[in-house]
Amino acid sequence: MAVPFRRTSKTKKRMRRTHLKKEVPGMISCPNCGEPIKPHRVCTKCGYYKNKEVIVTKDNAQEEEE
Ligand SMILES: [Zn+2]
Repeated sequence: MAVPFRRTSKTKKRMRRTHLKKEVPGMISCPNCGEPIKPHRVCTKCGYYKNKEVIVTKDNAQEEEE
């Protein structure tokens, strides 16, 4: 097994780790309410899909009754 000749410096270690970051792939914001949702799926917050209301959620249930 290869043995490192020099210990990696703090700077070099930190420079390398600038590329390591958390990413949330495949998320878009809902065009109706701006909530982060997965594409091609009904928004769970407002129940909208393709600019139309598809399902009745808690938030828009009161609007339905009026
Ligand atoms: Zn929404």
